[in-house]
Amino acid sequence: MSWFTVAGRVGLLLAAAAGIGSYYGQALLALAATLLGLLVFWLHQMHRVQQWLRTPGKPPPEIYGIWGDLLSQMYQMQKRGRDDRQRLQSTIDYLQDSFSSMRDGVAIVDDHGVLKWFNDPAQALLGLRAGDRGQTLMNLVRAPEFLRYFNRGEFGEPLEYRLSGDGGSWLRVEITRFGDGDRLLFIRDITAAVRMEEVRKDFVANVSHELRTPLTVISGYLGTFLSDTSKLPQVYIKPLQQMLQQAERMETLLKDLLWLSRIESEQGIEAHAPVDIRALLAELQDELRTAYPQRKVELELAADHKVTGDYRELYSAVSNLALNAIKYSADDSVVKVSWSQRDGSYYLTVSDRGIGVDPGNIPRLTERFYRVEDSRSASSGGGTGLGLAIVKHVAASHGARLQIESKLGKGSSFSLVFPARGKVATRPPVRASVA
Ligand code: ADP
Repeated sequence: MSWFTVAGRVGLLLAAAAGIGSYYGQALLALAATLLGLLVFWLHQMHRVQQWLRTPGKPPPEIYGIWGDLLSQMYQMQKRGRDDRQRLQSTIDYLQDSFSSMRDGVAIVDDHGVLKWFNDPAQALLGLRAGDRGQTLMNLVRAPEFLRYFNRGEFGEPLEYRLSGDGGSWLRVEITRFGDGDRLLFIRDITAAVRMEEVRKDFVANVSHELRTPLTVISGYLGTFLSDTSKLPQVYIKPLQQMLQQAERMETLLKDLLWLSRIESEQGIEAHAPVDIRALLAELQDELRTAYPQRKVELELAADHKVTGDYRELYSAVSNLALNAIKYSADDSVVKVSWSQRDGSYYLTVSDRGIGVDPGNIPRLTERFYRVEDSRSASSGGGTGLGLAIVKHVAASHGARLQIESKLGKGSSFSLVFPARGKVATRPPVRASVA
């Protein structure tokens, strides 16, 4: 019923009252009595509405007229609100149920760092108690790695850390922001995976170590035989030369494998010292001059910054890059090694005008033993396929990244990009070591 209809009815009622009143000569009295009656009626209706509003959940009373209309509209709104709330609650219950049933730990922390909710695995993994809801997370978790990571607020990479005094368990924590600065934490026990990785590394290191001695004996004898070919039957000379070449290749492979295992197994950079990159590159140039006197290696030293880290590791990384540049480019082309500053970062770049790499292959170059088209690589001296894996690992452990740019047939440029902050990196998580 619209207010217009109500106004019309009130008007009619008053007109009728005035008519009847004037018939008896009491028009004003009749009008006043009708208005009073209307007022009492409306007050009574309002009272019923008020009573109903005080008892939520009850269906509205039968009320005639505009108050009845208002009441049913209010009731509909109330019902819709209740339905929406119920739907929301059941969604929340559903999400909480699924989070609770997860084997990984899940916790929600608000923008003030207050722990809003966590499931049982999160309680066990983070060492919380059931009553810790509503407390500040920072006061509950003691691990310094976790606190540093949480406070830094950069959650692009997950955190992997070892729990102290818990048989050496490893946790992986991933944090996602949502809402108004709230944070969702996923915590997983990765001890088994880390142990497997350690077993794998130990195995590779042990096998490489054990194979070295027999291989040295074999190549030693082959070298002795071939030192005086006049005593050898002609038919043996070529096979023996090939055997020596392959034995030497295996020796290089074992050397690389052992070096990779060594730098992987260290939990932090062994020698934390400022490394003078200019001096390092000068030494490298000397070494390359001796080993490849026919090749032109240009040095460009535009920056004068020292990188904190391990000299030997950094040297092995740049030397791998330079040897690749020499290996995969023509003898008469120039290899350039530069140390420069750009866009707030320091670049240690080795570039060549060699055969280049197809862009599709670039993401795989740092995988162990990955080599672009075996035949092509073999014809360029037969590498081990471990060089760039070593470079990537050294870069990561020095807080740098390996940037690769290459054009097939035009040349490549491999850069170790160090952030200008000069941060000393801790060793990357064990499992995320080398691709
Ligand atoms: P390898 O011992 O085979 O050189 P690396 O890990 O050092 O192993 O390199 C992996 C592969 O990347 C190489 O086999 C080669 O195909 C490619 N590569 C590396 N450096 C260069 C470069 N400067 N130019 C072209 N290809 C390269």
